Amino acid sequence: MTRRSWVDRDKVLIAGGGIGGLAAALALAQKGIGSLVLEKAGQLGEIGAGIQLGPNAFHCFDRLGVGEAARSMAVYIDTLRLMDAMADGEITHIDLGETFRARFGNPYAVVHRGDLHGVLLKACRDHASIDLRTSADVTGYDQDETGVVVKLANGETVRGTALIGADGLWSNVRRQVTGDGNPRVSGHTTYRSVIPTGQMPEDLRWNAATLWAGPKCHIVHYPLSGWKVFNLVVTYHNDAPEPVAGKPVPVEEVRRGFTHVCQRAQSIIRHGKDWHMWVLCDRDPVDRWIDGRVALLGDAAHPMLQYMAQGACMAMEDAVCLADSLSRTDTLESGLASYRDRRMLRTARVQLMSRAMGDHVYHPAGPDAALRNAIMTAKSQAEWLDTLEWLYGGNGLD
Ligand SMILES: Cc1cc2nc3c(=O)[nH]c(=O)nc-3n(C[C@H](O)[C@H](O)[C@H](O)COP(=O)(O)OP(=O)(O)OC[C@H]3O[C@@H](n4cnc5c(N)ncnc54)[C@H](O)[C@@H]3O)c2cc1C
Repeated sequence: MTRRSWVDRDKVLIAGGGIGGLAAALALAQKGIGSLVLEKAGQLGEIGAGIQLGPNAFHCFDRLGVGEAARSMAVYIDTLRLMDAMADGEITHIDLGETFRARFGNPYAVVHRGDLHGVLLKACRDHASIDLRTSADVTGYDQDETGVVVKLANGETVRGTALIGADGLWSNVRRQVTGDGNPRVSGHTTYRSVIPTGQMPEDLRWNAATLWAGPKCHIVHYPLSGWKVFNLVVTYHNDAPEPVAGKPVPVEEVRRGFTHVCQRAQSIIRHGKDWHMWVLCDRDPVDRWIDGRVALLGDAAHPMLQYMAQGACMAMEDAVCLADSLSRTDTLESGLASYRDRRMLRTARVQLMSRAMGDHVYHPAGPDAALRNAIMTAKSQAEWLDTLEWLYGGNGLD
C-alpha cells in the first residue's frame, strides 16, 4: 500500500494521552498525518510533580513545534550533583553551563509534569488534524489489510488506519502485541512530595538536581515552577513485592528507610508533606513492538526505572522517530518496521543502564559504594561530557 492511500483513508489511533501519546499526535501532525487520541481517564492531565529533561528532550520539543513554550516553563539548573548520603559530602557534580549546552546544543532542565503535559495538550488542541477523546478505555484491537478496529471497555469500536499503543506501563495494546505478561516489580519504593521553597532547608536550596546516594536508598531534590517549590523524590529498595501507584503514606513510613543516612539527608524527608508512594516496575527489552498496523511507544514499549531520568525523554524521541519513519517510507508496514529498528537499541540501552545505575550508583554499600566514589571523583568535566555524548548528543532519529 502506498503512503498516500494509508494516510488518506482514516486517522491513526493513539491509545493513551500521556506525554508519549500527545507527543506522537503532534509529531504525526507535523508530517501531515491526522490522529485520534483515546485516553482512558475522564480528563487529560499528569499526576506526580517534577521531571528532569536532558538536552535530547529539547531536540524533540523543537521537532514537535513546541520548543518556545517548553523552554519558557523550565527551570535551568546549574549542576547535577551526587552526594554521599552516609558521609554527607559531594562525590562529584556535572556542570550544566555553557560548555555543556554548546556540546549538546541544548540545556538540561527540570519542569513540572503538569506544565509539560499542558504545553503538549495545548498544541494538540490547536492542531486541526488532532482529535482528543477522554473516557475511552482501549481494551484491545482487531485488524485486517485496510485498517485497525480498536475495542473500548464500554463496548464501542473505533476504526483507524493504524494504532499506536502509548498506554503506559500496564498497556493493553502491549498485551496483544507482545504478550509478555505483567511488568517486573523492582522492589524499589519511591515516595514523592512537593514543598514550598521556604520549607526546604536553607543550606540545600541549590540550583541543582541533587542525588543523595545511600545503601539501598536515595533522595533526589530540585527546584520547580519558577523556584516556588522543591520536588522531593526519595526511594527505598525494600523488596516491595506488589506494584503500587500513588498511594498516600504518612511521613513515618517514608523515614523508616532512611534512619541510617546522615542527618542532613534525613532532614530533607522531615520537611516533606503529603507523601505519595509508588512501587516501581520495568521490563526487559524486547524486539516485538509491532503487530501489523499496530506499534508500541513510550512506557508501553520500553518501561524503565527512573535512574537515568529518561522515560519521558525516550517517549518523545519515539514520537519524533515514528513520524519521521512513516513520512520516509511508502508503506505503513515498512514505516513501522523502520521506527522499531531505529529505536530499539537506544531504548534498550537506557532500560538496562537505568537498572545498573540503581545498583551501582544510587544504592550501593560498602566496597561497592567506595568504588563508585573512586570512579566518579576521578572523572574530569570533559570526561563526563564524553560519557554522556551517546545519550544527550542524540536526537531520537539515529
Ligand atoms: C518516580 C519517577 C520519576 C521519573 N522521572 C523522570 C524524569 O526525570 N525524566 C524522564 O524523562 N522520565 C521520568 N520518569 C518516567 C516518565 O514518567 C515516563 O517514562 C513517561 O511518563 C512515560 O510516558 P507515556 O506517555 O509512555 O506513559 P504514561 O505517562 O503512563 O501515559 C499513559 C497514558 O495512557 C493512559 N492509558 C492507560 N491505559 C489506557 C487504556 N487502556 N486506554 C486508553 N488510555 C490508557 C493513561 O491514563 C495515561 O494517560 C519518571 C518516572 C517515575 C516513576
